[in-house]
Amino acid sequence: MPQLIVTEKIDGNPVAWRCSDCSQSFSARGKLTTKQRNEKVNAEFKLHVEKSHKGESPRAMAFAAAVPLPKD
Ligand SMILES: [Zn+2]
Repeated sequence: MPQLIVTEKIDGNPVAWRCSDCSQSFSARGKLTTKQRNEKVNAEFKLHVEKSHKGESPRAMAFAAAVPLPKD
């Protein structure tokens, strides 16, 4: 399952993230509270997973994450 990874912080607060599986980036800058940032990014990430990662087989996901595939 893809996860959000923090890539940038300002004053200790995360403002940019990327998808662990495909490196798609997400950001929530500007005048937002931490809660608003989390809600915005989580909503965008949820849509991204549904659009880009839903139905991918474990093999495809493993390949995307550069994990060695088991030998057949
Ligand atoms: Zn992704």
